[in-house]
Amino acid sequence: MERACASIAAGDSSTMRVMPYALPLVAERGEGSRLWDIGGREYLDLNMAYGPLILGHCHPRIVEAVTRQIIERGSQLGFPTEITVRVAEKIKRLFPAMELLRFANSGTEAVASATRLARAYTRRPKVVLFEGHYHGWSEGLFNRYHAPLEDLPAGAYGQAIPGTAGMTRAIEDVLVCRWNDLDALEALLADEGEQVACVIMEPIMGNAGVVPPRPGYLHGVREATRKHGALLIFDEVITGLRVGPGGAQERYDVRPDLTVLSKALGGGYPVAAFGGSRDIMRLIVDGTVFHGGVFSGNATVMAAAEAVLDEVLVDRSAMYAHLEDVGDALAAGLRQIMTDLDVPHVVNNVGPMVSLFLTDRPDAEVAGYRDARAHGRFDRFIDLQHEVQAGGVFFHPNMFEPMYLSAVHTREDVDLALERIDAGARTSLL
Ligand code: PMP
Repeated sequence: MERACASIAAGDSSTMRVMPYALPLVAERGEGSRLWDIGGREYLDLNMAYGPLILGHCHPRIVEAVTRQIIERGSQLGFPTEITVRVAEKIKRLFPAMELLRFANSGTEAVASATRLARAYTRRPKVVLFEGHYHGWSEGLFNRYHAPLEDLPAGAYGQAIPGTAGMTRAIEDVLVCRWNDLDALEALLADEGEQVACVIMEPIMGNAGVVPPRPGYLHGVREATRKHGALLIFDEVITGLRVGPGGAQERYDVRPDLTVLSKALGGGYPVAAFGGSRDIMRLIVDGTVFHGGVFSGNATVMAAAEAVLDEVLVDRSAMYAHLEDVGDALAAGLRQIMTDLDVPHVVNNVGPMVSLFLTDRPDAEVAGYRDARAHGRFDRFIDLQHEVQAGGVFFHPNMFEPMYLSAVHTREDVDLALERIDAGARTSLL
């Protein structure tokens, strides 16, 4: 890490990956559900590169598809290619709301394009997002999503807070609302509705721990946005192809106007997509809204995405039943460990995205960002994570970062992870 810091700012190319409280881990390679560091130590991986590795590290089908593409046809051709069209067609089979789509290289880019499209389509300026939700670090949207409680508005909503130094005033057109609280959104829309181009959310909160939507909430949001003429954007960067083949929109049966996909779609390669109805996407077709990208939809990542999609399309029920099974088993096991040790906690999961919240009191409920902030014991979680990492299981030391399982994690992997987490908890939490 010292050598890395001499040439790469802070040692790695995402601020998320160089948190000062993390034990240093320089990775050498990954295979299946396992990761090895440069010292040769093996870890059972419950982070999976922050979610993308839905088929595990180095999945043979992806490796073969990508290498075949590169060797036989080229990494990037600079023209429309059949493979890109095939991938789009396969995405549409899983996400029928994406009648037309475009590819991009990261979640940040795809979300920025989707919100721009919403502003152009509605000819309104404001974007509404939610406390604790993250939509990338772009100029117009990077809200301080982990703001301290005292900086949050007293009412149901308020102005976004710039997420970093150096931002322009574009963020002034962003409002931040309480999530999982339909009254809060309705109050906002009653006040500001005519100005609101779109409401964007993670349909399952995943950037301040895992919090599922309350029953009926997403449908309520759908109705409220429609009533006020605002578009609804589901940022399914985490949930797309993870909580079901068709993401959260399929799982909860709610159709957004625009959808953003990334992470699991590429299976470990940098790809994103955004899309929606033909009527909205027409603005890109006719050139009203510009969207570019030298690498957007390049053949290398399309080969990876096609391998993921083929795996999903061929085997969808078995694959997602398995993901539910291992996710639920991990969640139940974590609950059991903390209950046995009398450690206050809340465990939330939706399929293979799992959160362990250590809390300051046994009856805490975590239904949104404020609860997690108010009752979370982040310090205790870091202590636990350090012990567990030393014991050979990796999940992120920030309690807000979900644990992710893949299709190649077995029940035996989950049992082993729980055994090691139990041992780590006995040392660090008692
Ligand atoms: N949206 C969500 C919901 C995310 O979780 C992330 C990344 N964690 C992004 C957008 C940004 O994606 P990227 O890091 O690929 O730019």
